[in-house]
Amino acid sequence: MERTYIMLKPDAVKRHLMGEVISRIERKGFNIINMKMITLNEAVLKEHYAHLVEKPFFPEIVEYMVSGPVLAMIVEGNDVVKGMRFLMGATNWLEANPGTIRGDYANSTTENLIHGSDSVENAEIEIKRFFGNI
Ligand code: UDP
Ligand code: MG
Repeated sequence: MERTYIMLKPDAVKRHLMGEVISRIERKGFNIINMKMITLNEAVLKEHYAHLVEKPFFPEIVEYMVSGPVLAMIVEGNDVVKGMRFLMGATNWLEANPGTIRGDYANSTTENLIHGSDSVENAEIEIKRFFGNI
């Protein structure tokens, strides 16, 4: 069964939207097979967002992502990597369709509630980064 790495970002936790987002994942029929609250640091974010380290907005992403705890999850299901990206909605909040998590709750491209792996290969790398070898 395919797995993906999902992370509810600090704004989702602070806005008390964890239950809402978890409920959408469950109602879709995906299985949450592990979860934990953690607080990130700059070192892990430089790895996790390596493709963005050179961008001018990277310091803003770090400030946001270390601003409070996140909920790290492993989610399992049929085509779950693409399926979760579909549930999440587009990165740019102005392009995220209503009915998606970002489309319904985000009003910023940085503070967009949720991370989901973008490929099966990256999902396994990210699961290992945040959960170790499980
Ligand atoms: N991000 C941002 N501005 C941008 C692009 C990305 O603040 O122009 C932030 C946003 O929080 C996004 C994260 O960096 O979720 C990772 O960017 P990526 O392009 O990987 O988007 P995602 O995979 O999260 O949709
Ligand atoms: Mg990404």
